[in-house]
Amino acid sequence: MLLGRILFDLLSLYLVSMMRREIKCGNVKIGGSNSISIQSMLNVPIVKREPALKQCLDLKNVGCEIIRVAIPDMESADAISYLKENIDIPLVADIHFDYRLAVASMERGIDKVRINPGNIGSQENIKKVVSAAKERNIPIRVGVNSGSIEKEFRHLPKEVALVKSALKHVEILEKLNFNDIVVSMKSSDIRDTLYSYEKLNELRDYPLHIGITESGINEKGIIKSSIGIGALLLRDLGDTIRVSLTGDPVEEIKVARDILSSLGLRKDTFDLVSCPTCGRTKVELSKIASEVESRFRAEKIQGVKVAVMGCVVNGPGEAGDADLGVACGDGKGTIFLNGRILETVPENQISSRLIELAKELG
Ligand code: SF4
Repeated sequence: MLLGRILFDLLSLYLVSMMRREIKCGNVKIGGSNSISIQSMLNVPIVKREPALKQCLDLKNVGCEIIRVAIPDMESADAISYLKENIDIPLVADIHFDYRLAVASMERGIDKVRINPGNIGSQENIKKVVSAAKERNIPIRVGVNSGSIEKEFRHLPKEVALVKSALKHVEILEKLNFNDIVVSMKSSDIRDTLYSYEKLNELRDYPLHIGITESGINEKGIIKSSIGIGALLLRDLGDTIRVSLTGDPVEEIKVARDILSSLGLRKDTFDLVSCPTCGRTKVELSKIASEVESRFRAEKIQGVKVAVMGCVVNGPGEAGDADLGVACGDGKGTIFLNGRILETVPENQISSRLIELAKELG
């Protein structure tokens, strides 16, 4: 296992890292110098037309930019037209094994297809999918997953097998002169995921769809996704992200936006700094911070860093460094705006004053 990884590492040393190319998924550009897009996947079957449409609109409303839908049969492919007529957000068809579903989805207006060409049978089938995609300028995402690595690579270390599997599918497309490709190699193991994306990025210039697959539920899933996606983004490995959480996909978008804003990679949301409180705190700081967080979200405040701090130890420094902030004292708070003290207000006015000022700034 170890020898396999060392050999693979040595091979990669000879290859030069390249700038990733740009592809278009509907009206969203992925890769190149474009901002990192946020996507999710419907967990309502597309054949349930009204609930599926409602979930698309809910996702868009919280900032989702690309929506993937499972297309397990022809009835699902047929339902694509209905969604396309009622939404203006790019749709991706998630297809396994059946090339006819890929072709049908493209004929019904899908903006991108996720399919692994090595799994769809004969060369003729592959050619049909590729020619339908070329005709309409539709990109294909090759998406391999640690839970479904092909037999021929299962003897390899998992992280190497992920890259080899992805390359196998990519090469099938390349042989047909098709390069409108996005690649993902997701594992539920963060280290395997990091290694796979680093290697693939050394070998090819295709945009990267990133995420930690099956990361779990609630806080555990959020933490795992944030560490994994954050580590990838800090290495400039990622052009579009999907946070995978068990539950309502709307939560995935909120987490995705927070990951990007925490890294300073998107300015269309806000960044909240708040202290953990301690024995010096003399206001209800968690209530103030929660009010600020929920109101900033509701008002869709963009590009503002706000600091909510409990006392004068770190308060003036953090509040002064942010666009907007408060350093609290005993039942009151000193408001900072663009690094300067603006005024002092009673505790019960702090959150509304910060929201008022944020609206003026945002
Ligand atoms: Fe405690 Fe003040 Fe630090 Fe908040 S900012 S944790 S109140 S010392």
